[in-house]
Parts: sequence; structure tokens; C-alpha cells
Amino acid sequence: MCRLLIGLDVDPIGVIDWTAPMQIHVRSVPARPDCSGCGGPARVKQTIKRRLTDLASFGRPARLVWHQIRWWCPSQSCELKSWTETDARIVHGRKKLTDRAGRWACAQVGRDGRSVAEVARELGADWHTINDAVIAYGTPLIDDPSRIADITVLGMDEAKRIRLGKFKIKQWSTQLVAHGQLLDVVDGRDAATVCGWLSERDQSWRDQIATVTIDMSGPYKKVADTMLPDAVQVIDAFHVISNANQRLDETRRRVQQDILGRRGHRDDPLFKARKVLVMAAEHLDEQAEARRVGLLKAGDPGGEVAEAWQAKEALRQFYRLPDPDVAEAWLDELIVTLIDVHLPPEVRKLGRMLRRWRVPILAFHKTRATNAGTEAINNLAKRVKRVAFGIVNWQNWRVRVLLYAGKPDWSKLATINPAAP
Ligand SMILES: [Zn+2]
Repeated sequence: MCRLLIGLDVDPIGVIDWTAPMQIHVRSVPARPDCSGCGGPARVKQTIKRRLTDLASFGRPARLVWHQIRWWCPSQSCELKSWTETDARIVHGRKKLTDRAGRWACAQVGRDGRSVAEVARELGADWHTINDAVIAYGTPLIDDPSRIADITVLGMDEAKRIRLGKFKIKQWSTQLVAHGQLLDVVDGRDAATVCGWLSERDQSWRDQIATVTIDMSGPYKKVADTMLPDAVQVIDAFHVISNANQRLDETRRRVQQDILGRRGHRDDPLFKARKVLVMAAEHLDEQAEARRVGLLKAGDPGGEVAEAWQAKEALRQFYRLPDPDVAEAWLDELIVTLIDVHLPPEVRKLGRMLRRWRVPILAFHKTRATNAGTEAINNLAKRVKRVAFGIVNWQNWRVRVLLYAGKPDWSKLATINPAAP
């Protein structure tokens, strides 16, 4: 009955339940081994009591106290003096958790997104003990090559990871994404670092990438040019629209400054209009649309904000066009219109951006590739960050975020070999 309750095929010696955590004393029942040095029979030298954090038992933190045997070889001529019994069912190497508690803790933190502190409290263990287990059992899961095997569309996206130090300096990372899955995170957003990640993959892996989605920054384009020269480059639609919205916002603030000689206040029409302006036109109900028109009439006498708004909406229309040829004609027309000297400088800047990135922007209509899943991944990453109050250590961050958003095969957790120590 005791064996059944312990759930391991070991001999129970006794339970001490007046301590907290309670202690369950066991020994594994090995046959007397032969010495691996000389083949002669081994003898028991001593028994070591190893206290291991185990799964909570009936709602109470528990320790499995393993009476681990130290064997010795009595043969005079043998080189091997003594060695310690091992039992992978109980514990791997020098870990402080039982094997099953380590796997369980990894799933609780990695898959279910619980905090290390919370799991540590439940098991009555130290924070580091649990964190080490998440890293040890989680690393083989995220480094499993089949996790990222069948990728044809690769997205690169920069993400602000954390603010560090007294001056809260932003630390950037690059997220490599595909079909709503986080493939990996790279520490930094420069071309060399991301190229380094790609060069660690096999040539055959890189060859299967037919499409790369990037933003309008130089580094990721450079990565695609050098490491994935045959892949079609696509600018993610989100970045194009968000660029148009930034130009719109800049126009609004400049016009405000020109007219009032100061920044917007809560009673100024343009300030009031800032949210309604960046909303998609089709999401404005009759009342909101009337509000938009009214506020612009009051605060934008030169019509400059209205022009920036129309540019943004025309660009959104471009993404709704189903036919690639029609879309191409639309974009070319839009570029010519926007770089017109009579338009506000912000709008012309948008036009120049479209002209510069015309080819990868147009590639959207042929590939339909987006980083659409990125937003969802960012939300998952934010959750990991919030739960952990901002993880400073890069390795901890990488393992945690990939366990949570990288879609590892959790069915393998039961059988993987944990990383040392
Ligand atoms: Zn021996």
C-alpha cells in the first residue's frame, strides 16, 4: 500500500510526518552489483540520506529521503575504490528534486505559465531549485529540432525585452516567428546576431524558407539578403499601417503646435480627435464619423491632418484589394499622389517610404504572408514577463518564453533526459 502511494517502485522505510515538509524515507532495492572495475562482488560502504524535494503529498510539501548506497570494491588489486548508487527513477545526477517533481515543475512553469516562486512555495522548495529544474527539463524540449522542423514562412520582429539598470536602458531582442509560433529569441536586433542564429541551422532548413516577413528596418533585410537570398521578402502589413499612423500622429501634433503654439490639451479638437483618427474608418459608427469630421473642421483649417488621414485609409484600402495587379496599380498611384509637393511633409515622408520598400510591400498580395500571429506571441511573452516580474537572466528568459510560446511537444516531457547538472 505504501509503495502504491509513493508511486515509485522503491522500498518505503518510514514516514516522518511531524516535520514540515513531511519526510518519506525510501531505498531503492538494487541487486548487489558487480564492480565495474574488476567484476568482483561489491559491498555496502555506507548509506547516505539524500533529501530530495518531491511532489506535494496530500496537500503538504514532501521530501523523499533516499537512503542512497555507497558501494566499495574489496579487491586489493582493483583501481575502483567506491561509487554511489544511481537511480534515474528517483533523481538525475546531483539535482535537488526528484525526477518526477522536476518534470512536474517544468510543466507548471513552462506550459501553464505559473511563477517559479509560486511553484517553489507549493513544494516547499527554494526558488533556485525550481528554476534550475525548469531550465534542466525545459532546455531539451525547446532544443528539440522537430519543434521548428516544418517552417516555410519565417518572420523577424524586434521586441523590447526589458529595461535594465539605473537609466532603464531598453534591451532589444529579435523574435523569430512562424505561423503563430515563437521559433526562438535572439539577444539583440542587429544583422550579425540574427545571421548567427540562421547559420546555426542546416542548409536544408534554410532552403525550405520560401518567404521572409520583415519590417522596414535595414538589419532584417540584410539578414534576409545574406542568409536567405532565394526567399521572397514581404514587409509585414502591420508595420506599413503603423508607419502611416505615426505620420498621421506627427501631422496632428505639428498642426496643433502651429495653430496653438503649444502641445495639445484635453479640450483641443485635434487632441480629442487623436483616437478616432487612427481607428479604421469602417469601424467608425455614424456618430464617431461625425465626430471625426467635426473635430477636424474645428482644429485642422488647412486640411493637413485630413490629408494624412486619407493617406492612411488609402493604404488600408490597398491591403483589402484581392488582385495583385490591381494592388500594384493602386500602390503606384498612391506613391505618386503622396510625394506631391503640396502635401504635408509627413505625408510625403510616408510616400517616400512606400517608394523605397515598394517591392516587398507588393509581395504581400502574392504571398499573403504576415506576422499576424506575432501579436499573440507578444502577449504570451508579456505574460511570462509579468509573472516573473521581468526576467533579467537571458537564458532563463529564453527557456521560459519558448516553453510558453514556442509550442514544444509536451508529450515528450515524460521521456526527455534533463540537462546536467
Ligand atoms: Zn573492483
